[in-house]
Amino acid sequence: MINRLAIIGVGLIGGSLSLALKKAGKVTEVVGFARNEETRQQAMSLGLIDCAAMSIEDAVTGADVVVLAVPMGAMAKTLAEIAPHVTDKMVITDAGSTKAQVVEAAVTTLGDRICQFVPGHPIAGTEKSGPSAAFPELYQNHKVILTPLAETDAVALKTIQTMWLDVGADVSEMTVQHHDLVLAATSHLPHLLAFNLVGLLAQNDDVDDVLRFAAGGFRDFSRIASSDPVMWRDICLSNDAAILGLLKQYQQQLTEIEQAIQEQDGDYLMDLFQRAKQARDIRFKEPELSHIKAK
Ligand code: NAP
Repeated sequence: MINRLAIIGVGLIGGSLSLALKKAGKVTEVVGFARNEETRQQAMSLGLIDCAAMSIEDAVTGADVVVLAVPMGAMAKTLAEIAPHVTDKMVITDAGSTKAQVVEAAVTTLGDRICQFVPGHPIAGTEKSGPSAAFPELYQNHKVILTPLAETDAVALKTIQTMWLDVGADVSEMTVQHHDLVLAATSHLPHLLAFNLVGLLAQNDDVDDVLRFAAGGFRDFSRIASSDPVMWRDICLSNDAAILGLLKQYQQQLTEIEQAIQEQDGDYLMDLFQRAKQARDIRFKEPELSHIKAK
């Protein structure tokens, strides 16, 4: 049971966590912070938080768990603002989509208190953002990856594992580096490709005509291009090394595809399409797909 939970960033991710913990009866009081009065008021009126703090200091004072759910680009600054107010039993975690950058910032800003920080990432979300996007079922049967450090205190880790289990998530652990590589491949690159394709088509004069004929496949593929641009700019810049490595491989493969089409090399295309279809069919059974929301 969490007595006082501080959520810094009361949007989709922070707001949904708060709603889910409240629904499960696993938190007594939630205090939230966002920069804008409008966001704080919305979070209050939607019942995401019990109390809106006017500063980060006010939000974290007296909290036993602090959750950072701000965009990646704001993590380091937020950690620096929290650092002077961390007390002995306080546990701090984050929900950021990439881990190396936030861990580096936590090591720098928290110093000896780094043992109280548990890096985390819920693999759940929608293309919507802000307080009004939050809903309590978001984490049900979705994975949460924790990337504890050598210094992470066992009790702090247990507190955060329990928090995510309480909202119905399936919690696993991996190293920071492995997390950032896996997510670059399964989330960051697909988002980049979707933004790129839709952005490319949108430049055409006949964009309305082209999209008028878009079928289900295009809708499925392009849905994630409706995600928040600020969030995705920050993710791409913070996981730069892993994304650049994958982009290089992707570009090489695109060149091979281009060549195969120029040379009418159907065998190359068949081999690629069959391997891709088989890999996907084995891992994703269709009935489950309707429950998957890309993060
Ligand atoms: P969101 O809905 O846009 O919410 C972000 C919240 O942070 C808002 O309350 C915003 O309110 C506040 N905020 C923004 N900049 C801030 C700053 N500089 N200082 C303090 N508060 C700030 O975003 P989200 O989708 O919940 O994402 C939050 C985090 O979760 C991100 O790090 C993201 O990478 C990660 N994540 C997202 C998803 C997803 O699918 N959306 C999934 C997994 C993880 P104000 O603008 O009023 O400050």
